[in-house]
Amino acid sequence: MSYAYTLPKQGMSPADVQQRIEAFRAEDPTFERGRMTAYCMKGSDDLQEVIENAYHVYFFQNALVRRFMPGMRKMEEELRSICASILAGGTPGVRVNFTSGGSESLLCGLHAAREWARAKRPQIKQPEVVAPFSAHATISKACHYLNLKLTRIPVRADYRADPKAMEAAIGPDTIALVASAPSWPYGKIDPVSEIAAIGQRHDLWVHVDACVGGYLSPFVARLGHALPATDFSVPGVSSISADLHKYGYAPKPASTVAYRSEELQQYHNVARGDWPSAMYLSEGVIGSRPAGALAATWAVMHYLGEQGFVEYARRTMDAKQRLIEGLIRLGMKPWDTELSILLFETAELSAEAVVGALTEAGWPCMGTMRPPLVQLIIDPLVGDVVEDYLRDLEKVLRRLRSGKEAKRGDLGYVD
Ligand SMILES: *Cc1c(COP(=O)(O)O)cnc(C)c1O
Repeated sequence: MSYAYTLPKQGMSPADVQQRIEAFRAEDPTFERGRMTAYCMKGSDDLQEVIENAYHVYFFQNALVRRFMPGMRKMEEELRSICASILAGGTPGVRVNFTSGGSESLLCGLHAAREWARAKRPQIKQPEVVAPFSAHATISKACHYLNLKLTRIPVRADYRADPKAMEAAIGPDTIALVASAPSWPYGKIDPVSEIAAIGQRHDLWVHVDACVGGYLSPFVARLGHALPATDFSVPGVSSISADLHKYGYAPKPASTVAYRSEELQQYHNVARGDWPSAMYLSEGVIGSRPAGALAATWAVMHYLGEQGFVEYARRTMDAKQRLIEGLIRLGMKPWDTELSILLFETAELSAEAVVGALTEAGWPCMGTMRPPLVQLIIDPLVGDVVEDYLRDLEKVLRRLRSGKEAKRGDLGYVD
């Protein structure tokens, strides 16, 4: 067996190493300011500098060994309290855990649901989860890892979860319901209150996937937008996943999974002492984890403050509105969504062709397949490039409408 690429015999100079890395990066899109389709929500350059400086201080440190690091522990506990207060919606006692991303947060939340059900309803042999069709794919992954049977229920005509149909799908082995706030493919907030009330009625765990909205909704609401409650102010919500590396503007990996109470937190914890070393209890699924991401997230929270988060929410929502107006002008059909996910139908054109041509034009993007939609994720920087985007989109549409063949883009994630 031979491998095309192997460890170099001799080490390279630092300058050569750097040059090679930069050469890789030069082949990638720059994702410079506001190229909104880059799937990493970013703040302005001054925030970016604060983030990089903070990350650098804790760059090599491992947050797993916090027992030796009183300073880092203090920083982490302050951040934990900030995150809990944002997700709590005024409810006392919320417990936050730091994770590596939405996928881990969801895995942890559903794991806690499973452990809770094991304790409360031990007769269940094959636990089941009921989620809307629009729930993120990573929920299917989590259920696979956790041996939970997942049933996805068709959404309503308005593309939100259908609480009645979800209730009808509850069986004797159902342990949990899932709602998204908002869902990734449709950008719409599910009727969380109704789903949580059903959960209470049937004594089920209710997880809200607020990976996108968790750190955005409270600040958009502060701008006066009418938003339904999706946090722990909603009775019956047991756990929430909310990504810091989305609208917490933090570098990856940074996310949170939160539980309503210390009691529910106990189902998250997996402490093990059945090995030759000491009792092992880590924050989530991963063991060693980067303290740099924690420091950077602490830095974001303190640099922006509440005012900064509200200002970023305002910029995001303003940019979205201007895009919607431009899209309508160009004959596209933007959807009505509450937060920062903008989706549009491409009228007589194929969404794959538009995605492909936009990507070629330097606006890499993806989309939704059922139904075909182009997806834009708006961040605070997008406001700077709305006109550029619409100008390029106009060219792309003109070309496609004239019948020119375009390389079809892929709406999905498989590469
Ligand atoms: C991004 C996202 C996830 C997955 O998060 P990762 O950080 O990519 O693991 C899950 N659910 C929703 C709603 C998301 O937007």
